[in-house]
Amino acid sequence: LSPIYIVGGGLAGSEAAWQIANAGVPVVLHEMRPVRGTDAHKTDSLAELVCSNSFRSDDARTNAVGLLHAEMRRLDSVIMRCGDANQVPAGGALAVDRDGFAAAVTAALEAHPLITIERAEVAGLPPAEWDSVIIATGPLTSPALAEAILQLTGESALAFFDAIAPIVHRDSIDMDVAWFQSRYDKAGPGGTGADYINCPMTRDQYAAFVEGLVSGEKTSFKEWESNTPYFDGCLPIEVMAERGAETLRHGPMKPFGLTNPHKEGPDAKAYAVVQLRQDNALGTLYNMVGFQTKLKHSAQVALFRTIPGLENAEFARLGGLHRNTYLNSPQVLDRTLRLKAMPRLRFAGQITGCEGYVESAAMGLLAGRLAAAERLGATLAPPPPETAMGALLNHITGGHIATIDEGPRSFQPMNVNFGLFPPLPEAPKSEDGKRLRGPAKAVARKMAITDRARGVMETWASGQ
Ligand code: FAD
Repeated sequence: LSPIYIVGGGLAGSEAAWQIANAGVPVVLHEMRPVRGTDAHKTDSLAELVCSNSFRSDDARTNAVGLLHAEMRRLDSVIMRCGDANQVPAGGALAVDRDGFAAAVTAALEAHPLITIERAEVAGLPPAEWDSVIIATGPLTSPALAEAILQLTGESALAFFDAIAPIVHRDSIDMDVAWFQSRYDKAGPGGTGADYINCPMTRDQYAAFVEGLVSGEKTSFKEWESNTPYFDGCLPIEVMAERGAETLRHGPMKPFGLTNPHKEGPDAKAYAVVQLRQDNALGTLYNMVGFQTKLKHSAQVALFRTIPGLENAEFARLGGLHRNTYLNSPQVLDRTLRLKAMPRLRFAGQITGCEGYVESAAMGLLAGRLAAAERLGATLAPPPPETAMGALLNHITGGHIATIDEGPRSFQPMNVNFGLFPPLPEAPKSEDGKRLRGPAKAVARKMAITDRARGVMETWASGQ
């Protein structure tokens, strides 16, 4: 068998190599460190954790990333195996000794008879004779390779910054205050004329909100990040607010063309409006349009819950702005993570538009299995969207919808979360058949989703 080539020995590339080799297919893994470094990595180990040492919650019953851990263990993940073997105490989270963890992954890969590790940068498109390649070069992909990918995919398909607006769980928005309407009831392609959720503000509420944005605590750019310019149209909301009290009212918070059905007379015209737009095909998540921000997470939660209708908002993710190289995957990748324009190239890890160590490794696991099956002449169906792996894959390759006036850059990286899973056919009930409410309802819903996922994953995994 000829080898499968992997570019990048981080979380995703290491996991992909392990899965391919365990399927009996040879692998050549190219990692550029220590020959060439990145702005965040400090060692020459494979699978280096560049920041926190946590894989987050290990609770597989009520936490989506905990469920992902469980699925990866079921699929013999080297990242989970080495994480478990190098655990440090962290309550319900799985945190690891970072040096021990990375050393264990490096040793496992170096010892595998089917894995060859080359310490060299792939400084352009992989050579044509590499007929099956996984590119897993992460958020800090080297400039030469990023440029080659940009040439291949076009400018709108590769971003160098993520400008993330907060994303809210739809069922946590108070629709007795907010309402569905598109500006001037305009129905764009695929739209109904009532595609946005609108949250109204009075003049006083708006003034207090703008003041909160300007005075709120911000995170600062790392030195190397500040050299990368903002994308057009991606200014943080607080930077816009600093430009003048009325700037937002004439920008993302403009009230024009919207009428509040909960009010009558002049009150039906709000002074300012926060709009939320559907973020996934399931309709379970909505993003706050134009609200990319560098406010600290705690400041975001406190301030955004002052918006009428969002008092009890649950955030699937908070806003941010970071240096991050990632593809507009729903547009350019197929369902098995291959580049449509050049199917010998498959992508994995954070460059596909997932976020986080575990998610990156999970997409490496899938890319590895899919590439190995292809090399062996078999077909592997991707995991169903009811599983954590499938839900994440679905977000990356197709679950995201483009609505109305969205530009091609609307796809944003995301951690795994329950909003990515298909809704349950019916709301869970208490043991005596009564409808649940509040926190009990939320926990029961999560448990029903993870129970369903376990069954579906078992069927998928045992069918391979
Ligand atoms: P990486 O782990 O970065 O691996 C990519 C590898 O490819 C690197 O080893 C790199 O040297 C190599 N490479 C790049 N270009 C080439 C080339 N042309 N040829 C050969 N090799 C190449 N996630 C969390 O869950 N928790 C955090 O605390 C966290 N903090 C982060 C902090 C920063 C500063 C950044 C940038 C990201 C952070 N992330 C965090 C997000 C993300 O989970 C990690 O970046 C994760 O490592 C991504 O995994 P990956 O395998 O896709 O990429």
